[in-house]
Amino acid sequence: MLTAELIKKKRDNAVLSAEEIRFLINGYVLGDVPDYQMAALLMAVWFNGMNAQETYELTMAMMHSGDLVDLSSIPGVKVDKHSTGGVADTTTLVALPLVAACGGKVAKMSGRGLGHTGGTLDKLESIPGFLVSQPMERFVEIVREQGLSVIGQTGDLVPADKMLYALRDVTATIDNISLIASSIMSKKLAAGSDAIVLDVKTGSGAFMKSEEDAVALARAMVGIGKRAGKSVSAVVSDMSQPLGEAVGNALEVREAVEILQGHHGDGDLARVSLTLAARMLTASGLGPVDEAEKKLQNALSGGAGLESLRQMISAQGGDPAVCDDTGRLPAAARRYSIEATASGFVAVMETDRIGIAALLLGAGRRTKEDRIDPAVGIWMKKRLGEPVEEGEPLADFYVNDEANLEEAVSEFQRAITIEKQKPEPPKLVRTIIEE
Ligand code: URA
Ligand code: CA
Repeated sequence: MLTAELIKKKRDNAVLSAEEIRFLINGYVLGDVPDYQMAALLMAVWFNGMNAQETYELTMAMMHSGDLVDLSSIPGVKVDKHSTGGVADTTTLVALPLVAACGGKVAKMSGRGLGHTGGTLDKLESIPGFLVSQPMERFVEIVREQGLSVIGQTGDLVPADKMLYALRDVTATIDNISLIASSIMSKKLAAGSDAIVLDVKTGSGAFMKSEEDAVALARAMVGIGKRAGKSVSAVVSDMSQPLGEAVGNALEVREAVEILQGHHGDGDLARVSLTLAARMLTASGLGPVDEAEKKLQNALSGGAGLESLRQMISAQGGDPAVCDDTGRLPAAARRYSIEATASGFVAVMETDRIGIAALLLGAGRRTKEDRIDPAVGIWMKKRLGEPVEEGEPLADFYVNDEANLEEAVSEFQRAITIEKQKPEPPKLVRTIIEE
């Protein structure tokens, strides 16, 4: 096979075979296909797309480029969850303990955040003592015994994605549904679970700004899962405002603990978490969705979800007492109230900007080397559609280093639009896509 001929084929909008796709991906990982040829191929894919079969074959070729996690020593169905990411998106810390409390088995490998706020690993590391790095055997043992463990990636999972993503980033080829879907699904499938529930976000704080694109991405990923013989479903949910109230690592842990203690139960973060958790239980064969919802409500109100979080924290070296007293989490030196500059209704939140404001306070990292301050961030006081008076608090800023405080405040103020007319609040769960 000649690489140039395969690039030409895709340029001319023909369909690549499984063998051709494997040749290209294996060749790229081995260094036989150079960056300039892969860049040309990616651009041809960007213009002409890939059909569902090609997208699946690309996912499989990528998945097989590195290690695969073997969870077979854990009995029963293993279920995983993935969010395409957003601001105040703390569903993992709420949904997973509830799923484990209801008998689900969750072995999750998570990432660090690059972008506005920390990823799940950064949030967990704000718990004193918590170790996100665990040997594979210990990870499997914790899941077998307690139903839940969340760790950082171990081994060399999907090296093809690391290489391709870096190349896409500098060749304007990130934003293609087949390339995004194969990138996400190759990693989820390599992580070894039998069932996967995806949370695809849409809106101003999401990767997919339009609902149409979010639905297309969700369909593509569910389609890959079906071809791979896994149970995959996707919830398309709103990210046109921060999902929870807390933006920042220890603050988000605090909010998750408070939800599992029985507070903020009717908030959007709790509602999306319960929606995802119900699908995870159903995918695990633990009953239909309406039954799963009831079990989860009981686990929430009876404290079993909180107990499950406590056990995971304990098993991974963290201070389990944060589940009773969130005052044990790192706390910022100062708190400033950020006030509305006009009266009316909260009409628009440029959610990305709220994320950037939190990053400027130190809650996120701009480069892989940046250090996160676990204590700092933003606690939102208003939601879209709510009335607000001039001078009323929109949010509290939790601050240590004041170097970028002014810039953070101005970014935050620019993110919020207040109008006289009461707007329609966004629909939280847009649609659910199943195979
Ligand atoms: N997230 C991923 O993991 N891959 C993409 O291509 C886009 C978002
Ligand atoms: Ca996230």
